[in-house]
Amino acid sequence: AKDSGRETFAFYTAEMTEQANQRIRVASELRRALENEELDVHYQSVYELSGQKLVGCEALVRWNHPTQGPIAPNEFIPIAEESGLISALDAWVLNKACKQMQQWLAMEYDLKFVAVNLSSRSLSEEGLAEKVEATLKRNQLDARFLELEVTESTVMESPEGADAALCGLREIGIRLAIDDFGTGHSSLGRLKSLPVHKLKIDRSFITNLPSDNEDVAIVQAILALGASMGLDVQVEGIEQEEQVQFLQQCQCTLGQGYLLGRPVPADEFTALLAKTCKD
Ligand code: C2E
Ligand code: CA
Ligand code: CA
Ligand code: CA
Repeated sequence: AKDSGRETFAFYTAEMTEQANQRIRVASELRRALENEELDVHYQSVYELSGQKLVGCEALVRWNHPTQGPIAPNEFIPIAEESGLISALDAWVLNKACKQMQQWLAMEYDLKFVAVNLSSRSLSEEGLAEKVEATLKRNQLDARFLELEVTESTVMESPEGADAALCGLREIGIRLAIDDFGTGHSSLGRLKSLPVHKLKIDRSFITNLPSDNEDVAIVQAILALGASMGLDVQVEGIEQEEQVQFLQQCQCTLGQGYLLGRPVPADEFTALLAKTCKD
């Protein structure tokens, strides 16, 4: 019994070592990918639900590994976060998205915003607002066209740090959205003092609309909260026509999801703009 216990322990250790090595491998490959432009940015459309008009998009990073093929963000973003690569990755996506947005505006497509995700590490970085401002300037993009998304848990984790960073970002004239809203234990008092423009209701509350009564209640409550605080509310994860109808009835203004459009490469998004902006 003693031996088998030891074996089990050895087994777990080997497995944990293997997992740790795997993460280190991925981190070093990710570093290389960043340098070699193996990463790409896809864009998912955001619609005004009333007239189903395309008004903006969210930039989402993609990694096309030379031998393993596409790797999902949910697999490599956590590794980028723990290895400290995330700030460089976020900065790379931000630059790419700003450059692309400037091009779309130069083609006279009527987009109101491009949204870019910021990890909590990036938010707590020294001089973030200055770096964002420099990126806008480099790409000749007016600040009002950029929206930065920070998750609710990021914002609630470090009250003082996050508030100062968000205020700095707000001062340069960009828009701010709280992502995955409803999952991160906001206190309403804190929410009141946050300098944000938009709440993005987490996908988990949308999936079972309109049949799940609790989800209906939660979504309606967030919509009411947003309305009374003067914040835009956007939902993500719309996959069914019924959800669109329900959200339209609830006066929800903005939405995104596979039903309306999947994330696509920049050239495909340009083609979509050419089609929807043509009379
Ligand atoms: P997120 O910011 O909540 O992004 C929304 C995710 O939901 C995206 O997954 C998107 O493809 C997916 N999605 C959109 N519509 C639907 C739908 O109708 N149904 C379903 N089931 N899913 C939908 P993706 O691209 O795999 O990204 C996953 C997460 O990775 C993102 O969640 C975000 O947290 C992170 N991420 C992606 N790009 C970046 C980035 O450039 N920087 C940082 N820091 N994080 C990123
Ligand atoms: Ca997001
Ligand atoms: Ca989200
Ligand atoms: Ca339920």
